[in-house]
Amino acid sequence: MTTHDVVVVGAGPVGLWLAGELRLAGVWTVVLERLDEPGPAPIPCGFVRVSGYDAADQEPGRRTVTMDELRATAVRIAGTDFGMRDARWLSRFGNATRHAATYRKGRVLLAGDAAHVNNPIGGMGLNGGIQDAVSLSDRLAGILVNRDPDRLLDLYDLQRRTVAVEHVQEQSIANKKRLEASDPETRRKNLDDLRQIAADPARARQFLLRTAMIASQRRAATIELAEATP
Ligand SMILES: Cc1cc2nc3c(=O)[nH]c(=O)nc-3n(C[C@H](O)[C@H](O)[C@H](O)COP(=O)(O)OP(=O)(O)OC[C@H]3O[C@@H](n4cnc5c(N)ncnc54)[C@H](O)[C@@H]3O)c2cc1C
Repeated sequence: MTTHDVVVVGAGPVGLWLAGELRLAGVWTVVLERLDEPGPAPIPCGFVRVSGYDAADQEPGRRTVTMDELRATAVRIAGTDFGMRDARWLSRFGNATRHAATYRKGRVLLAGDAAHVNNPIGGMGLNGGIQDAVSLSDRLAGILVNRDPDRLLDLYDLQRRTVAVEHVQEQSIANKKRLEASDPETRRKNLDDLRQIAADPARARQFLLRTAMIASQRRAATIELAEATP
């Protein structure tokens, strides 16, 4: 029987990235995928992606959205269902912000959305997840070489969990608040702040390093396990 050093559960973007990195590092890996909800990509020619926010339908939970519900939402918001038919993929998403208390329990490790979710505004979820995958594959490959699994896996947990809270969540929550602001005075102030940042090369650079998540990578690299003990 073939044995594998690592089993990756979930062939989402983070799982596939992790498996690819592990393969390059020579780690035997198998990917398990649950295929009950096929994803949207690639969206074939002639198809149109429709997404929206329905204030009248905010029931929490992971109910699968139906074509009739999507039609009713479109009619409620836009007054027409645009003749929608032949849906290729239907899915519901929320804007919850959460993270797991730990990314490691023994030999089970979390990465990507399984470890942390944030609202999609600012496009940081997938980027953060891929940074997890790169960090985790480094640690797993390192175990084969220097065999200090506890230290390496605890370091993965501490580094990635810290930057998920300090960078991804902080930035995505700020993005959401900026977008949601409805008071004209607050909106004007927010835009003025952004203009001032854009006009100042040093501040603009810092802003880009933060939003492109380069700053979080650099921060993660400075975190040592000693930080965990008060
Ligand atoms: C509307 C929207 C827009 C977004 N835009 C951006 C963006 O612009 N930039 C960005 O960086 N991020 C964005 N994101 C976030 C991004 O989509 C997620 O962060 C990313 O998909 C997470 O990847 P993942 O592999 O961790 O999880 P997923 O993509 O959820 O993949 C998990 C996989 O695991 C499988 N699975 C689940 N349970 C099991 C099981 N028990 N056994 C086997 N397989 C299982 C699932 O079928 C799935 O294929 C957006 C999200 C939304 C909702």
